[in-house]
Amino acid sequence: MKTLNALLGAVAALSLFAVSANAQTYPERSITMVVPFSAGGPTDTVARLVAESMSKDLGQQIIVENVGGAGGTLGAGRVAQADPDGYTVLLHHIGMATSATLYRKLAYDTLNSFEYVGLVTEVPMTIVARKDLEPTDLKGLVDYVKANKDTVTVANAGIGAASHLCGMMFMSAVETPLTTVPYKGTGPAMTDLLGGQVDIMCDQTTNTTKQIQGGTIKAYAVTSPERLKVFPDLPTTAEAGLPNLQVGIWHGIYAPKGTPAEITERLSKSLQVALKDPNVVARFGELGTAPSSDADATPAALKAKLEGEIARWKPVIEAAGQYAD
Ligand code: ASP
Repeated sequence: MKTLNALLGAVAALSLFAVSANAQTYPERSITMVVPFSAGGPTDTVARLVAESMSKDLGQQIIVENVGGAGGTLGAGRVAQADPDGYTVLLHHIGMATSATLYRKLAYDTLNSFEYVGLVTEVPMTIVARKDLEPTDLKGLVDYVKANKDTVTVANAGIGAASHLCGMMFMSAVETPLTTVPYKGTGPAMTDLLGGQVDIMCDQTTNTTKQIQGGTIKAYAVTSPERLKVFPDLPTTAEAGLPNLQVGIWHGIYAPKGTPAEITERLSKSLQVALKDPNVVARFGELGTAPSSDADATPAALKAKLEGEIARWKPVIEAAGQYAD
């Protein structure tokens, strides 16, 4: 028995050594960053900018993999199941918190299946429509959807997505339920908005800025408390008459539970470097957002944010009584 215990102790010590040795030489190969929405959408855009810059700092490629579906919960589930070795991470947004209540059954436990790397950015939403939708301002849009509630369609990226959350807030603010059309991300939803197959969407500025500036879609308001530099003429929802429709879409990077702290700390340091990269700062600015501070791009700040946001949205979702399953 004594020999067996000694042997088990030696094996445990060896595997501990292996973990810290790996953490010291990490990363030794490419890293997969799962984005739980389609390529070309706003979460993907943020991920690719940050991944490119982190790759330079880490000396290894970060490859973005899009695993869309079920409002981001499929991609999160994929990462929860991955090996906790630092070679698979998740970049997700506020949906990580809202889906914890919207889905009564998830393939993972939101607060216990992940380690934290840090916050990345908080992106405002814009209420947009196909170019030829009649109303020219938010008040007109509210009247229009009330008068056409049986035919107006609202695109989103599935239940739990930011666009779903914002769309629900819009419908609740105007007290009018509308038909929603789910996609695997708002990248493909934008294609349909441009093609006129769907009428309205609420989406991050990281997906809508170029289209709004190019006049290929109509924009009615931004959901931030202040107007944005990129659209000085676009009113805030509060200015335009819907003061309760304010939401910022925060993004964070996670790793599977059990990923060594040395590795999540290394990723966090690299994230902080990326968020100060002049190219990332400039692109974020052009897209109507800003990088998180060093203090926020940390495991502790993301953990606190996720816990706070789950607690904040739980009663709101429960009161609405609308679940995904
Ligand atoms: N903007 C999407 C959302 O509604 C996600 C995406 O396609 O990146 O959450």
